[in-house]
Amino acid sequence: MIIVLKNGISDPDKDRLTSFLSEKGFRIREVVGENETVVGAVGSVSIDYREVEILPGVDRVIPISKPYKMASRELHPQDSVVSIGRVKIGGSRIVTIAGPCAVESRQQILDVAWAVREAGGVMLRGGAFKPRTSPYSFQGMGFEGLKYLKEAGEATGLPVVSEVVSPSDAEEMGRYVDAFQIGTRNMQNFELLKSVGSIGMPVILKRGLSATIEEWLMAAEYLLASGTEDVILCERGIRTFGRATRNTLDISAIPVVRELSHLPIIVDPSHATGIRDKVPPMALASVAAGAHGLIVEVHTNPDKSFSDGPQSLWPQQFDKLLRDIEALCPTVGREMARLPERHQEDVLQSHLEGKVGKPKVVFQGERGAYSERAILNYFPEGEVDPTPVPAFRDIFNSVLAGDASWGMVPIENSLAGSVLENYDLLTRYPDIKIVGEIKVRIRHNLMVKPGVAESDIRRVFSHPQALSQCAEYIAAKGWEAIPFFDTAGAAAMVARSKDRDVAAIASAEAALFHRLDILAEDVETNPRNYTRFAVIAHVDAPGPENADKSSFTFALKSHPGALAECLAVLKAHDIDMTKLESRPIAGKPWSYMFYVDVMIPEDAARFEAAETEFQNVAQEYRNLGRYRSV
Ligand code: PEP
Ligand code: MN
Repeated sequence: MIIVLKNGISDPDKDRLTSFLSEKGFRIREVVGENETVVGAVGSVSIDYREVEILPGVDRVIPISKPYKMASRELHPQDSVVSIGRVKIGGSRIVTIAGPCAVESRQQILDVAWAVREAGGVMLRGGAFKPRTSPYSFQGMGFEGLKYLKEAGEATGLPVVSEVVSPSDAEEMGRYVDAFQIGTRNMQNFELLKSVGSIGMPVILKRGLSATIEEWLMAAEYLLASGTEDVILCERGIRTFGRATRNTLDISAIPVVRELSHLPIIVDPSHATGIRDKVPPMALASVAAGAHGLIVEVHTNPDKSFSDGPQSLWPQQFDKLLRDIEALCPTVGREMARLPERHQEDVLQSHLEGKVGKPKVVFQGERGAYSERAILNYFPEGEVDPTPVPAFRDIFNSVLAGDASWGMVPIENSLAGSVLENYDLLTRYPDIKIVGEIKVRIRHNLMVKPGVAESDIRRVFSHPQALSQCAEYIAAKGWEAIPFFDTAGAAAMVARSKDRDVAAIASAEAALFHRLDILAEDVETNPRNYTRFAVIAHVDAPGPENADKSSFTFALKSHPGALAECLAVLKAHDIDMTKLESRPIAGKPWSYMFYVDVMIPEDAARFEAAETEFQNVAQEYRNLGRYRSV
């Protein structure tokens, strides 16, 4: 049953309620929601609800209609977020867990762990106890394997997960792993569920080969009822009559489970398909369908793998998959979970050790600006402090002065073009460099003060660009569009205004921050509205080691064919140029500065050779930074 507490229930009343319930034999879980606090009470005892309803501080009692109680969304309306070390599963971020089917040797798991980390995976998997179909197949390295897995996790900073197959191993295994995995063959091994659940650590529960969703949630209920609060469901394909793939990935299970349960759900496209080249499309489909993460088999040499080689991705394939997911994320309103990159680690670590506050990342505008969303998406969750400043120039100045560790500056919009002011600032601040980039989908929302109805609106405020991007919507409503200096600023103004006929167009974050109600989402005419941001840092700050993109500026010598000569250098070294933009040079009418983006080839020396040659044919060459492309 769900016991809804009265707002402001006193502590003695709450204590009386919980002791009453535990004496009756209920397991209790308090769930603090946005508007009310409830206590979930489950157990194999029956009780007359009226006995609870009359207790002081109790507002009402609601029976849970589903056979699974603690796993049910009725008990816990908000999504649960499970923390495994620094990794959080269940929010808007896509968590990527990867590693070999089985730990095969110390070197093998270390190599795979580094490959996973370099590609951007945030957690490491590796079986040590393998429940194989044949007793003659490799059964895993047991505790020796777990020791290597733990070592590889610690070396790379990746939390680790491994499958537990026996109740008697659970406790000892808990010393090596950050999360347990219950395999498909053991989903209904209730003794195993009880002993693993009682340890209280996070558990990834695979769906049984032929389990219905209800049976699966009942298995989760066993874990929750035994003591852990942290269960992650994993859809890994079910047995159907289809033979084209190893199993059939039940994609529809993702939205179905998300409706029935608050528990996070991830997908294992490797066991679902059993075929390497079918893994990436199913992984992308899972993200689009709303999965919170993926668990993928990756091996540095799949052909030599002791188990599941044919379904294991090569590291390069995993790397590409992560980039594809990253490209998909803005379209489906998600972000990638990230661990700090090595070059960010020092700054972030000193905060985690409590030496300094969270590192600041500055952006232009008001709280809730799209730039703030870019910061939240780019940096590891909750580890930086997004700080607004009034003007773009202030971003550069605070990074230069060391007040902020990084800055987030919009560079170009897919519909409106380049943000020229920032190109100019990049060229004018030689002590600032680009260390990263991120693309954010711009989704405009119509927002008003709470209680205002659409029919009250007469005037809509926003940045002129946002107004023009939503012109069709505004015109159809017959409202007056009034330009404002920025989108989040318009939201702040509406929040402060006494007028009831005003609305703003801004991001969902701006609505949340300024406590406005969203009346309509995605009111932009063209949904292909993305902004690319550059992450900037001081030139002396470390940059990423895995950079594959660089930006530079240059001016031309004054003779015919000067631009062609410059571009010929790039061609000669086979350097891929992805952007070329010209800007008038301030104070030199009719002279131009060129801004270029190029991809750094695998063999970075080729890029460096091109750079040296480029400096001879161009003027005022300046490298703006090397970074990882999106
Ligand atoms: C595994 O993850 O290696 C595994 C054996 O998975 P499943 O239990 O889904 O078959
Ligand atoms: Mn496997």
